[in-house]
Amino acid sequence: MGDSIRCTCQRCKVSGLTWPAVLITLGVLFLVSRGHWGYGIGALWPVLLVVIGLLKLAEAFASTEGHMGS
Ligand SMILES: [Zn+2]
Repeated sequence: MGDSIRCTCQRCKVSGLTWPAVLITLGVLFLVSRGHWGYGIGALWPVLLVVIGLLKLAEAFASTEGHMGS
């Protein structure tokens, strides 16, 4: 969001990926739910929890080496 200094440590990179990943996942889920595979959004939405969970897990394990800021 217009940050003048962007930290490039692994954790901040993963953290920055969370929202785009959530939006992309939502988009894909809606596409799949509108397709002809017989999956409604009600059966698909937990995928979003898995994606967020995996990203948060990755964030927790990611190195903060070179982290900038407080
Ligand atoms: Zn950082």
